[in-house]
Amino acid sequence: MTQYKYKLDPTSKKFKCPKCGKKNRFVRYINNETNNYADPEFGRCDRLQKCAHFHKPTNTKSYEPKYHINEEVKLKVSTIQYEILNQTIKCFDINPLVQYLFKKYEKNKVEQIIKKYNIGTANMYNGAAIFWQMDDTGKIRTGKIMSYNTETGKRIKNNDGKPKINWVHFAMKKTNYNLKQCLFGLHLLNDNVKKVAIVESEKTALIMSLEMPEYTWMSTGSLLGFKHDFLKPLINKDIISYPDKGCYDKWSETAKKLNEKGYNITVSNIIEKKEYKEGWDLADAFEFEGKKNAIKQAKTDLNTTAEI
Ligand SMILES: [Zn+2]
Repeated sequence: MTQYKYKLDPTSKKFKCPKCGKKNRFVRYINNETNNYADPEFGRCDRLQKCAHFHKPTNTKSYEPKYHINEEVKLKVSTIQYEILNQTIKCFDINPLVQYLFKKYEKNKVEQIIKKYNIGTANMYNGAAIFWQMDDTGKIRTGKIMSYNTETGKRIKNNDGKPKINWVHFAMKKTNYNLKQCLFGLHLLNDNVKKVAIVESEKTALIMSLEMPEYTWMSTGSLLGFKHDFLKPLINKDIISYPDKGCYDKWSETAKKLNEKGYNITVSNIIEKKEYKEGWDLADAFEFEGKKNAIKQAKTDLNTTAEI
C-alpha cells in the first residue's frame, strides 16, 4: 500500500476556500508524519455543486507552510511505529546494559525484563541501550539511547562530562517531531496496578524490577521529570517515589503540591542515609547493602519504611 505523505484533515475544521471565497468550506491537507497543515492552497472545497475546488499536493514534494497562518493548529503528539521498536529488540551481545545485567542476574529473569520493558539495542556508541517510552495506550513517544560500561553498568560520559545520550526520533532525522515524553514503563499501567514505584533512572527501574518484581517500577528519566505532566496518568494510583540522594527535598516539595491536586504520593527518604554517596539511587543502595550480605535486610527496610 502506498504511504501518502498528506491526507485531508479528518477533523471537522474547515477554512475559507481560496477559489470561491466561502468561509468554513475548505478542508485542508495534513502531513501524515507531522500532523501540521500543508500550505493553505491545498485542500478540497465541500461546496460540491457550486465550486468543488480541489487542489491536491503530490507525495514527492514538500509543501510545508511558507508562512505562519494566524490560526490554531492543534499539534498531535508524534509517535514512532511499533515495527521500529520491534527491530531493535535484538543484538544483546553488543548491548552493554543487558550484558551487565546478565552478569548480575539470572539470564531468564533478565530476558523477561527486556521483554517487559522493550529494551532495545542501538549500534550507536559501539552498542547502546534503548529505553523506549511507550505510553499507557501503547503509543511510542520516542526512545532514549544511552551508552553504558559493560563492566560497571555505569553511564559513559563525553569529554565534557555529560552522559552520551541520543533520541530515536532524532537519530531517525524526523522533522517537525512533536515530542511529548512520558514515564519509562508507563505502558505497564493498567487497572490491576494499584501502586507504582517511581525512580529517576531507567536502569534503576529495570534493576528494581529484578530485585522486587512484585511492584510496578517506572522512571522519570531526569530529576525534573518528576512533575504533573509525566505523572498525571497515575493520579488515581498510590505512588511511592525514591529520589536520588540529595534530591529528597525537591521531590518532597513537588509531591506536596501534587497531593494537594489529588495525587497520593509518598516520598521515601531511605537513600538519604549518611553512608550513601551524593547522587546514589535505590539500585546503588541495593548493591551497597548486597555487598554487605544484607540485601534481605534492605528489602525489609524498604518494605517497612516505604510502606509499599
Ligand atoms: Zn470553493
